[in-house]
Amino acid sequence: MSQCNSSLIQELTKLPSKFYASLDRAVESSKFWTQDNTDHSWLVRARQPQTEAAKRLQDYLRAFARDNNTNIIFYVESPIDVESGTYTLGPDHPANLSDWLFNANFGVSESSGRKKLTLDLMILADDYDISKLNVSRLINHVVSTIRHELVHYVQTKKQMSDRGERTMLSTFRKMKKDPRQVPTEDSPKYKNMETGEWLSGGQEHYYRDYLEAHIEVDAYAFEAAELLAKKFGKQGAIDILRRKINFDDPNLPTALTKYVPGLVGQKIQDALKKRIYSYIMDIENPSSLEEVSRSTCTNEKSSDILRKWIRSVITIT
Ligand SMILES: [Zn+2]
Repeated sequence: MSQCNSSLIQELTKLPSKFYASLDRAVESSKFWTQDNTDHSWLVRARQPQTEAAKRLQDYLRAFARDNNTNIIFYVESPIDVESGTYTLGPDHPANLSDWLFNANFGVSESSGRKKLTLDLMILADDYDISKLNVSRLINHVVSTIRHELVHYVQTKKQMSDRGERTMLSTFRKMKKDPRQVPTEDSPKYKNMETGEWLSGGQEHYYRDYLEAHIEVDAYAFEAAELLAKKFGKQGAIDILRRKINFDDPNLPTALTKYVPGLVGQKIQDALKKRIYSYIMDIENPSSLEEVSRSTCTNEKSSDILRKWIRSVITIT
């Protein structure tokens, strides 16, 4: 049995039911996409850079956490990088025009021990055409990303109980120090530590190690299974997995298409597909998953994947 497979033979991650319909409703009813999401409303509020849209989504997620006795604090931020334009979504950006999140992470606060789930929302460029927005794709993108992060929360809790540790913070610190679980980009493996510059191929190497970490394979498989089953039904999703995957197909979730051949190894691809299959079979009530209307946006190219990297890296903040 290969090493990468043995690390994946583990029980499937289950999330409490409140993280489905109630969470979906909270995001949908926020209608955050109707609020300004450009630099015109960008402000630093309570030390957080936010547009009005980000603030609106954060308010609704916090109300959801309160109403459902969830001890996770949600943050939605709007980072700006004027020079690179990385966080500004417009026609020139490689991301799908309905996928507004750039990054997400789950962490445990070093100072308070509180669990934090942070979403980084891209701001919209002045030439962003809002008529091209597919609202149901945006909602699914947000809720499935949140559930991806919650998979990390459950993984951490499980490791805490398996090791008999008392706090999630101590478990988290150990996970962060384990490069097989959480590779850190500030490593001589990837960067010249004196100048901070990426080594030749270092960025790609880091991204591959991140995707191949078993906690990420698990979380992306969970995410891909949900999105595939929603869009194609259980049987349709399984048929897709049986065929050769078209990594340039914009109708497939990026949780699957970011695992491009050449970037990740064949063993990891096989392990990912197997796990997606298991998660699809585990979906109890596919009727509770609403069908997503077809996307009209086709600008996402897997070859541009490195510009969209580091989504969902676990961090302790
Ligand atoms: Zn992740």
